[in-house]
Amino acid sequence: SHFPECVIVVAASIVSSKQKWKEFFTRYYKPAIQQLAVSDARTKSLTVEFQDIVKFDVRLSEELLSNPGKVLKDAEDALPLVDLPVKRKVSAFVRIVKIPRKMQVRDLRSDHINTFVSIEGTVRKITDVRPRIINAAFECARCGNILYLPQEGTGKFLEPSYCPCNEEKKGVFRLLFKESTFEDYQRIKIQESPEDLKGGEQPQTLDINVSNDLAGIATPGERIVVNGILRSIQKINRDGKTVYFDIYMDCNSIEFEEQEFDELEITPEDEEAILKLSRDPNIFKKITNSIAPSIYGYDEVKEAIALQLFSGIVKNLPDGTRIRGDIHVLLVGDPGIAKSQILRYVVNLAPRGVYASGKSASSAGLTAAAVKDDFDGSWTLEAGALVLADKGIAAIDEIDKMKPEDRSALHEAMEQQSISVAKAGILATLKCRCALLGAANPKLGRFDPFDNIADQINMPPSLMSRFDLIFILQDKPDEKRDASIAGHILKSHYAGELNAHKLVDNSSITDEALAEAMKPIKPDIDSNLLRKYIAYAKRKIFPIMTDEARERITKFYLELRKPGEAENSPIAVTARQLEGLVRLSEASARMRLSDRVTPEDVERTINIIMTSLKQVGMD
Ligand code: ADP
Ligand code: MG
Repeated sequence: SHFPECVIVVAASIVSSKQKWKEFFTRYYKPAIQQLAVSDARTKSLTVEFQDIVKFDVRLSEELLSNPGKVLKDAEDALPLVDLPVKRKVSAFVRIVKIPRKMQVRDLRSDHINTFVSIEGTVRKITDVRPRIINAAFECARCGNILYLPQEGTGKFLEPSYCPCNEEKKGVFRLLFKESTFEDYQRIKIQESPEDLKGGEQPQTLDINVSNDLAGIATPGERIVVNGILRSIQKINRDGKTVYFDIYMDCNSIEFEEQEFDELEITPEDEEAILKLSRDPNIFKKITNSIAPSIYGYDEVKEAIALQLFSGIVKNLPDGTRIRGDIHVLLVGDPGIAKSQILRYVVNLAPRGVYASGKSASSAGLTAAAVKDDFDGSWTLEAGALVLADKGIAAIDEIDKMKPEDRSALHEAMEQQSISVAKAGILATLKCRCALLGAANPKLGRFDPFDNIADQINMPPSLMSRFDLIFILQDKPDEKRDASIAGHILKSHYAGELNAHKLVDNSSITDEALAEAMKPIKPDIDSNLLRKYIAYAKRKIFPIMTDEARERITKFYLELRKPGEAENSPIAVTARQLEGLVRLSEASARMRLSDRVTPEDVERTINIIMTSLKQVGMD
């Protein structure tokens, strides 16, 4: 009784996938193909949504994923067979987009080799776009015959060894450039995006081969989805003996970030929880208390970071000027006072956080660099931490120890939020629309309390002035505070001990006891919810300044500008501070999801700014 079914299966597989594609294109993509037929673009592509293939024939869609080399070729061969009103043959690349199952680089396994995969990531590096030979024409020196040899694109150049005119003797050949076919080619390296990494994980990378109209369209720092065939390549270790296999992708299509996979998903239930939270009169305190609760004290720093997480509003003015909304914060302080710890916490909390140290950043440094590629020695453009943190927060530890090249690039990066690279023939502008949270030590490692504080910060004033808030953190012995810190640190260690113990011996420690021990270091708002709250605020809330708030800001700014107040300060009070005031006040309004900036928001901002200025020695 199973027999008839078998027959059906066999019959179905006889219909070649080329036939199916012709039918599919005719049914779903005729207008698009018609357009291609009349277009005179040099290279043409037909973009096909995966879901359409599923709708048409699930089996074809599955075959595409499991055997993409053949199926895509069939698709491209089928394209010219589609009957069109204009009698013209269309040949184009078929590019498949919107594959529902997206993977991370770290999820790739040997099973995925030679299948069609869809991978999300941030562009880390790009090479120049160069021609690559795909069909090489050779002239035989003996008989003058021309032989064509398709290149496989594995990086190795293939040459014929014999010509039919003499099969006994190895031939001598000359490559004919005119007769050969070339395509544009580029290699890009993607790495996992910061928001997809769990605390402390190192991002993994994947090399992508892109060609034709896909070459040259991606820029370092951009978040993209690459779809294509995963390949493996045999490589030989530096010792010259051991062989290993590396993976790369032959790219079929690139999708640029859209809202869908841009940010965290917020469900209607989440939204309800967010709106409820926003109506809490203590929302500001609650958010502040949820930042690094295991770190004792630093209320102003935590307030500043809270504002930074929400950020002000980006303004695009009619004359083309763009004013950043991101808030930059700098912590300068003695060693061992939890600066690094705070930075790491923020990176984990922020919807998009990147941590880097000024001392040991990658070859691209903090900003970006043109570097010699380790693979083939060509020049590549590599994104540094600030570019990778585009639309997020870059936490830069030991920023005072950054490389001199970064120092100059940082000026542009912080204010214009872009980085220009002009080196080795590479000319590019990369976006780095991120907030910077920097940490630095005093010049001599520790503050000398008897010397002028401002003189002990190892940063040029021009750079200092680009921070909206600077905090000076001195580690002065203070019995009461020290006792509290000790108490708090010991409490968190105790909670950690109970937790570790419970993992190996569940019975001796009750859930209640553990919860009780965790209480002092538990954030008021769960990090997952807070992350969504922040994303929601940044997506939906664009507050507007009330007249009263504007008056309050003007008054405060004029007071700050009064002569005598700040003459010896390392940070001149300029219009930059005024912009900072606006940004911080907007962020404050955003924190309670309010679309009005009120005098209370300004007051809160003034308090934080005054604390910050006093510490720098500007009172
Ligand atoms: P820094 O980067 O300022 O040199 P770290 O972040 O490396 O310092 O901190 C050193 C250690 O001291 C960390 O384990 C941190 O948790 C602890 N520590 C210092 N100050 C505090 C504090 N106020 N509350 C809790 N832990 C603290
Ligand atoms: Mg440190």
